[in-house]
Amino acid sequence: MERRDFLKKASIGTAAAAAATALSVRPARAQKSYNWKMVTTWPPNLPVLQTGADRFAKRLAEVTEGRIKIQVFAAGELVPALSVFDAVSAGTVEVGSGAAYYWAGKVPAGQWFTTVPFGFNAQGINAWFYGGGGLQLWEETYAPFNVVPRPQGNTGVQMGGWFRKEINSTADLKGLKMRIPGLGGKVMAKAGATVVLLPAGDIFTSLERGVIDATEWVGPLHDLRMGFYKAAKYYYYPGWHEPGSCLEVIFNKKVYDGLPKDLQAAIDAVSMEINLWSLSQFEAGNGEALQDLITKHKVNLVRFPDSMMDQLRKLSAEVLEEEAQKDPQSRKVHDAFKKFKERVGVWGTVSEHAFYNSIAEKYSLKG
Ligand code: CA
Repeated sequence: MERRDFLKKASIGTAAAAAATALSVRPARAQKSYNWKMVTTWPPNLPVLQTGADRFAKRLAEVTEGRIKIQVFAAGELVPALSVFDAVSAGTVEVGSGAAYYWAGKVPAGQWFTTVPFGFNAQGINAWFYGGGGLQLWEETYAPFNVVPRPQGNTGVQMGGWFRKEINSTADLKGLKMRIPGLGGKVMAKAGATVVLLPAGDIFTSLERGVIDATEWVGPLHDLRMGFYKAAKYYYYPGWHEPGSCLEVIFNKKVYDGLPKDLQAAIDAVSMEINLWSLSQFEAGNGEALQDLITKHKVNLVRFPDSMMDQLRKLSAEVLEEEAQKDPQSRKVHDAFKKFKERVGVWGTVSEHAFYNSIAEKYSLKG
């Protein structure tokens, strides 16, 4: 090779190498892709809850053009339902989906971010998260556990539950065996009920055989599917104990913090989308399911007596105060929740409350 040719080729080679280096530095970082695992607390294909987690993974892959791919595992497929938080915290998996009150034993302050008896409805809790500092407080609560939370859905106001006998006052709750989790369960226990905790798969059989006298679950859409109407004929409302339960998607903090900003933004946006999507599915499906329960399955729809609601509200305030005293973060979250509730409550009285009263008589179920 002539020396001139060699120099020419060498210089082309150097230029090409320099160009390749220039190309490889920034775009390679931007093009890095992630393959994650998500574990959930829900049975496979459970509508809205598990299908919402599946939808989250699908939408995130779409909006990131495949840069984040998540393989979703239902409860028990990779870890048991109640080990989801631990698995994400330890980094065994990158993502989890469930509800904060499932980890109350480990993170007591987390319960306020799912739902509080006589607390916020879906609109109220979303206002707290996105407009009242609630999400920052939730992040602060989970940070010591190396977990980042995002709201990922809401059931809306739940139903009060299925009872084998009529309930006319809190006196009828004495000795009543009821499956009811969370803070609501603590309130029922204080009212004299015997609170039983059962996994989803055991509830129907226990109710049918009279092992329990009552159970709550979610709302008409999901309760119809569980077949509770075959075992109990009194369906009470409203679900004072879960007026707008928020579902969560959780990320290992190191994984989330290590992402480029655009992918963090994609996660935040898709979480918000699924939060709205899930609530919309419940709101769209509950009315028809309730009508089916009444007309096809001859269920007695009964409203809890006002006197009973007044007593349960009083007991709820006591339970919340007792829970808040257990650790400093619970105190901080409870006080923030209460303060925000007073502020939005004033507005709700003249907006939602007054509006619903004005249209209440326009809608009626066919009995
Ligand atoms: Ca429930």
